[in-house]
Amino acid sequence: MSGGAVVIVLPGADPESVRRALVARGLWPVRLERTGRVAFRLESHGSRVDLDALERLEGVERVLAPPSTTPRLDAQPPIVRIAGRPVGIGQRPLIVAGPCAVESEERLLAIARRLSTMGVPLLRGGAFKPRTSPYAFRGHGPRALRWLADVARDCGMGVVTEALSELDVDAVAEVADIVQIGSRNMHDHALLRAVGATGRPILLKRGMAATIDEWLASAECALLSGAPFVLPCERGIRGFDPSTRNVLDVGAIALLTARGLPVLADPSHAAGRRDLVLPLARAALAAGAVGLIVEVHDAPEHALSDGPQALDPDELGLLLRELERAGAIRPARPPEVREELSP
Ligand code: PEP
Ligand code: MN
Repeated sequence: MSGGAVVIVLPGADPESVRRALVARGLWPVRLERTGRVAFRLESHGSRVDLDALERLEGVERVLAPPSTTPRLDAQPPIVRIAGRPVGIGQRPLIVAGPCAVESEERLLAIARRLSTMGVPLLRGGAFKPRTSPYAFRGHGPRALRWLADVARDCGMGVVTEALSELDVDAVAEVADIVQIGSRNMHDHALLRAVGATGRPILLKRGMAATIDEWLASAECALLSGAPFVLPCERGIRGFDPSTRNVLDVGAIALLTARGLPVLADPSHAAGRRDLVLPLARAALAAGAVGLIVEVHDAPEHALSDGPQALDPDELGLLLRELERAGAIRPARPPEVREELSP
């Protein structure tokens, strides 16, 4: 954004002609005058322009870039640790997998056992589900958090689970290695502050209609409230075409990566259908995503939520092998070693 930038007028130049040139570019300049020098501060909501181009305007001495609106995010370390593993640009991609919702302890255990043998380090699963319809399954709540904690411990995995309301934050923070904030709540700064205050890191899904600036502002809010780090997650934005559930914004992944920010990708919610999860996962990793969060269910046709996009554990195994072969991820354990270990 050009908002907040300051355009300093060259001594002796005509400030009014500089002002007109700025207005002609769709900007909203506010005149500042100090010790005989004139400058214009560009208010936000003006158009986006290249600051270098402004510096080349006649009568302009210099353009001061606006201060960053996300200083804490800018200062976030490039490599963070989640459940003991380094995560960041250039690190081995993080794989998070599990069901959309925690449906029962037995089912979760069956899924997690398969995932842990594939070397998946983090188990996902919602105890509190944000659903579009109020009649849809809303999750098993606090008891599902207990199942998650027990199953993850038994399988040696970390936990990713969503906090839906300020009321659940403490209970969720107790079991989650990283607390998920869902797409529908990305703008809920009160919830972000409450999770931030627990000192837990946050996996921040992008709002389905949120701009990148809004998304990063929410990340900044969580950091300001005490979160040790925030991992933004691109999960697809709403488009006009219902052929896919959402539109995976690969450009956003590339842009954040170029800014040095690690970003996770969720090909499952972006696609809405299991056959597209692998190609979107490939695209996300190619654009620079530091990892994937993938929905996996042992009987997707019976899943209580998001069945059409869930892979079964075998399909996840194929996806991981395919990504390994393509060099997008390194194998969890070299396959030959696994063969030698099997009886
Ligand atoms: C989920 O991860 O199951 C979920 C509800 O995701 P999102 O908030 O991205 O829709
Ligand atoms: Mn889901």
